[in-house]
Amino acid sequence: MLFSEQNYKRGIYRGSIEVICGSMFSGKTEELIRRLKRAQIAKLKVEIFKPRTDIRYDVSDVVSHDANSVQSTPVDHSSEILFLNADTQVVGIDEAQFFDAELPAVCNKLAEKGIRVIVAGLDMDFTGKPFGPMPALMCIAELVTKVNAVCVCCGSPAMYSFRKVSSEATVLLGEKESYEPRCRFCYHMTEA
Ligand code: ZN
Repeated sequence: MLFSEQNYKRGIYRGSIEVICGSMFSGKTEELIRRLKRAQIAKLKVEIFKPRTDIRYDVSDVVSHDANSVQSTPVDHSSEILFLNADTQVVGIDEAQFFDAELPAVCNKLAEKGIRVIVAGLDMDFTGKPFGPMPALMCIAELVTKVNAVCVCCGSPAMYSFRKVSSEATVLLGEKESYEPRCRFCYHMTEA
């Protein structure tokens, strides 16, 4: 009953950390929004944070224009998340891979205060290496969900974000068109 929304409603809840990870185009943010909307239906106070470096969409886009829209706060450092509203019961964190190395400690603090923390982010960068604080977050989470995209080459489940352009920068923001989801086989096929 750890994640039961009814228990949250009755005030019988314990904090926890959930991680939603996967490649680009895998539906991580959609899954984050789905869980946050369910929390809102259960009348829980929800807040979303994201790194200010994410310029691809602004506040209103995290949960789009309906009655359930969730206030999203861009922050420069993970420690700013601790200044959340006193009555917040559920915290969503999007694009977690771009946060600093303190994010796991921040999430632990929130969970220990009784808050349900739901974190979404890319688990691997385009080179296939673990991305930022994501591996540490996955270790300390009660629940880890890995979502797959669909390989554009063969239709298999895809877990890699293949970069179609040659830049070596780890972060290419605002250029989703520069990536495509690929399965393990198709990701390595072009490397030789
Ligand atoms: Zn493939």
